[in-house]
Formats: sequence, structure tokens, C-alpha cells
Amino acid sequence: MKLLLLRCPVCQSGLQPEDEDIVFLCRDCHTPIFLSEQGVETAEVFYAKPQGNTAGQWLPFWLFEGRVRITTRETQGGVKAAESESEAMWSEPRRLFVPAWDCPLPQARQIGMEMIEKQVVVTAVNRPQNAEMKAAVLTPDDARKLLDFIILTIEAERMDWLTDISFSLEAPPPTLWAIAM
Ligand SMILES: [Zn+2]
Repeated sequence: MKLLLLRCPVCQSGLQPEDEDIVFLCRDCHTPIFLSEQGVETAEVFYAKPQGNTAGQWLPFWLFEGRVRITTRETQGGVKAAESESEAMWSEPRRLFVPAWDCPLPQARQIGMEMIEKQVVVTAVNRPQNAEMKAAVLTPDDARKLLDFIILTIEAERMDWLTDISFSLEAPPPTLWAIAM
């Protein structure tokens, strides 16, 4: 058995990621580190403090920026207002946030849904000194699957008893954000 000693590419400190970690911070220099089967490299993480948030904790989100195209949307209720809401929401590119830290699925779904509905505005700032971001445990592929689930939840919560939906996403690969919450 070969044990791989992981060192921070920036400060050379030993790294101790948890089992599920995909992107985590070096404990010494706080550089975001991306862990893959090939080893470690520095990760690109954008830091943002949305307006009105008095930063408690930096939490990781995958952000997809693109179009959700609904191809089928069938309901039992046939409520026109709900249908129009859905059409209006997906009529243009949206910021689609997917919580990336280790949190229970219902919570991830709820937080993602609220941030997408609010279309939280994020503006990248310089990496704050000693910002502690929770580790990201989702790969972009995992995030994409969770996003489908979040979009489904948004549509299912409208007032018209959704029975069937299909949609596609047109978006470039997501970026990773540390958002102060
Ligand atoms: Zn380091």
C-alpha cells in the first residue's frame, strides 16, 4: 500500500483532507486546494459577500450560469399564474447556486432554492485573509445532479400540482464560490 503525503503546493504544509473533501483550504496559508486522483493543485475559488450578509461563515457553492429550458411541464391544477411564474423565471439565463458542503439533502435543496429564487448577486472580492471556508464535497458532476433536484423542487412548489416535467440546462462548467452566510 502506498500512502500519499499531500503537501500544499503554495506553502508546502502537510494537508489533511477529510474523506469526502474535493476542495478544501490549506490550514496554514488558506489556499484553496483541489483534490483529485492525480493529487493536489490549487483551486479557483471566488469569494463573495452578498449585500446584507454580515459574514459569519464562508460556505462553498457551485454556481452554474445559464438557461434552464423546460420542454414539458404538466400539472393537475392548470393554474395560469403558476405557469406564467415558471415561464418568467426561466425565460432568461439565471444564476443557479448549488450548496457544495456536506449538509443534509433537504437543507441543500432549501438553500439552493432560496438563492435561485432570490437571484442572489455575487461579486468576487479578493480572498479575505484567513477566511475559513467549509470544504466542498461535491464535484461539478454531483452538483449538476443536485441542481436538477433543486429545479424540480422549485417547480413542484408552485401552486399548480406539477405531475410531470422535463428540462435541460445550457450552461458552461460551474465555478466555485465561497459565499459569506
Ligand atoms: Zn498552504
